[in-house]
Amino acid sequence: MSDLMALINQKRKELNKDRQKTIKPADGRGRYRILPSWRPEGGQFWHDFGQHYIKDAMGKVKAVYVCTERTFGKPCGVCEAMLHAQQHVVDDETMKLIQSAKANGRVLVNALHLDGATPDVPQILELSPTTFSQFLAIVQEWGSEVLDLTEGKDVIIEKTGKGLETKYSIQIAAKSKPVDSSVMTKVANLDDYVAQESEEQQRRAISNLNMVAGVIGNSVPATSPRDLPLSAPPHEIDETLDIPMTSAASSNPVSADAELEDLLESLGGN
Ligand SMILES: [Zn+2]
Repeated sequence: MSDLMALINQKRKELNKDRQKTIKPADGRGRYRILPSWRPEGGQFWHDFGQHYIKDAMGKVKAVYVCTERTFGKPCGVCEAMLHAQQHVVDDETMKLIQSAKANGRVLVNALHLDGATPDVPQILELSPTTFSQFLAIVQEWGSEVLDLTEGKDVIIEKTGKGLETKYSIQIAAKSKPVDSSVMTKVANLDDYVAQESEEQQRRAISNLNMVAGVIGNSVPATSPRDLPLSAPPHEIDETLDIPMTSAASSNPVSADAELEDLLESLGGN
């Protein structure tokens, strides 16, 4: 019974995750305030995050799954399945398709977009590792007070170019105002946000990847002691797409454009 309850708990978590969408730095110059940790004890104010987008030959996203390597630094079943699939692929097209499932590393922080539509509402800001590294350099230079609600500093993030040419720069704003401490009651718990592991979703991601690659799924090494067979029989393959990033009722599936932009940006090293 307790197994069932645990399963129900996990399923409800999945279903109820009315996922807040992350934001990315806006085009041009934008003013942001990066907020301190959501954890009561303070400290780490960011979380690494990566997702695999598995597409079919038509470029349609068939499955999205958190990359546990990028997110938690733990072995990732999808990364392993990609490696395995790549060893069996002979044509360039399929190889490209598999490689497009590679998860980009991102860093999530809670932030106010001060010149955005809702400057008082904390949002999850998604930064490239390079941009985040620039922000860490700022914190090192100015001290951790940068993150302080009263004494802290706004930052200006400038985004220029598109696709491969996208560049970001981040710098301290000339003047900053104190932030109302009530915003901290509205920040996202990023530990919870990235907790998207689900055997069902992983299985779906891997079986879709294997279909793309034409690999027999069962030969992929299992990564979890509780792993069920990795390749679902055809009648169980769900044609609908659950995207963990959005709520069940959302009409915002991952847009192919945004995905492409992500990919190009990651190739550009930003
Ligand atoms: Zn992965």
